[in-house]
Amino acid sequence: MPPLAPAKPCPICGKPAEEQFKPFCSSRCRDVDLNRWFSGVYSVPVAEDEDEDGDAAIKSETKSEDHE
Ligand SMILES: [Zn+2]
Repeated sequence: MPPLAPAKPCPICGKPAEEQFKPFCSSRCRDVDLNRWFSGVYSVPVAEDEDEDGDAAIKSETKSEDHE
């Protein structure tokens, strides 16, 4: 095994990564990557499932009230 692993370049700007901010070269590039990741997550619709669940809960509540 080599004594030192070859430094991977920062995926944002291509500079050698710093140990402190791996795999990025700086906190700035790490933030850039985070922002990219989050904007991708937020573009996926996730509220649909929650809405369906809430509707079913209201219906079952009405039914139990009818029973009594
Ligand atoms: Zn960088």
